[in-house]
Amino acid sequence: MNPPPNLLSAFNNAFNKLPKLVARAPGRVNLLGEHVDYNDGWVLPVAIDHTAWIAASPCSSDLISVHALDLGEAVSIQIDDLEHKVDVRGKPLPAWSYYPAGVAWALQQHSLQIGGLDAVLTSTIPLGAGLSSSAAIEVAFAVTWQAFSGWQLNPMTMAQICQTAENAYVGVNCGLMDQFASLHGVAGNALLFDCRTLEWEPVPLPQGTSLVIADSGVRRSLGDSAYNERRTACEQATRTLAERLPNVHALRDVSIDAFDQHSHALPSVVRRRAEHVVDECARTLEAVEHLRSGDALGFGKLMYQGHASLRDLYQVSCPELDVLVEIATGLPGCYGARLTGAGFGGCTVNLVKEGNVESFLQALSMEYWNRTGKQASAWVCQAVGGASTSMATTLKRINIQ
Ligand code: ADP
Ligand code: MG
Repeated sequence: MNPPPNLLSAFNNAFNKLPKLVARAPGRVNLLGEHVDYNDGWVLPVAIDHTAWIAASPCSSDLISVHALDLGEAVSIQIDDLEHKVDVRGKPLPAWSYYPAGVAWALQQHSLQIGGLDAVLTSTIPLGAGLSSSAAIEVAFAVTWQAFSGWQLNPMTMAQICQTAENAYVGVNCGLMDQFASLHGVAGNALLFDCRTLEWEPVPLPQGTSLVIADSGVRRSLGDSAYNERRTACEQATRTLAERLPNVHALRDVSIDAFDQHSHALPSVVRRRAEHVVDECARTLEAVEHLRSGDALGFGKLMYQGHASLRDLYQVSCPELDVLVEIATGLPGCYGARLTGAGFGGCTVNLVKEGNVESFLQALSMEYWNRTGKQASAWVCQAVGGASTSMATTLKRINIQ
């Protein structure tokens, strides 16, 4: 995968030299296992060919200078003053720069030495659409600093450090899935990830199918209160069920049968939230079996069920996402569709028979417009490998081509 053509020239314009390295880090789409990461469950993300790109060189000063090409903004931060979240002139950091600054800070917290950096950042991952533009930026900076420093982290540790950046520096209480997927992606595969044990394995996507992402265009920021309310409900359900069942430390430990027997002890809203999580954990593991046997139809059916559960039990959908899934359900060649990401807007993910993709893309956008008066963008995505860096020698070749 080549970097965007304007990346290297933008670096040259900004720093008057050629970059030493280009880093890429993919976004991700989650196929199943939604809102289960903070319940120790299993998730099934795919690293996708929408990418955060960085062109970078080490610099001799103790400054991190980053140009955000897509925003037309730049910032310089003193490397030994990350704690205060101010730029080199003492002004508060712009929000987007919390991600690179947070990674630098989290690396330092782990006693990993990093040096000054000149960097240009650009990304093809839509912002705030549930495809993890933020994690991709964190990961791209982490692999860049690793390439320029003397240390080498295993990818899971690096994912955890990036998560720390987002949790403790940016202040977003996310799980590990996004950073994990961006670092561990395997071309042509989904990644079954156990959020408790951190074990994972690639699972091939079914032959003859395509993954289609449809962006509803709706950006309703996941209200902190709505998200926190759901986390609290899960914690409450866990406490109550743990009093009745042995060895329950999270909702992932509750089987569907055990839940049926004991859920009467939960208040109705809490019960619905917990039911989604218990079902979704079982659904994700069952879905993986369908993937392993190449059964797109069986897998897709569970995607539809997952959406209904997020809509009715967990209540994190919105009318536009429901319309996208409804339309997809009636289109030829669609095996399954569901909202992906935290919900309240963003994207759906669809599993579509290869031969039907063109008509699917057209019909989905047209029908969505007819029913909502809103524009959806829909595209086929590829499952790609995890984040990587290319050093200057390779770049020169790319440059000349
Ligand atoms: P998501 O990760 O689902 O896309 P987040 O709200 O977690 O959404 O992260 C989006 C934030 O990441 C943006 O508000 C911005 O601060 C930062 N970001 C994403 N893409 C870019 C970009 N191309 N350039 C600069 N900052 C970006
Ligand atoms: Mg994010």
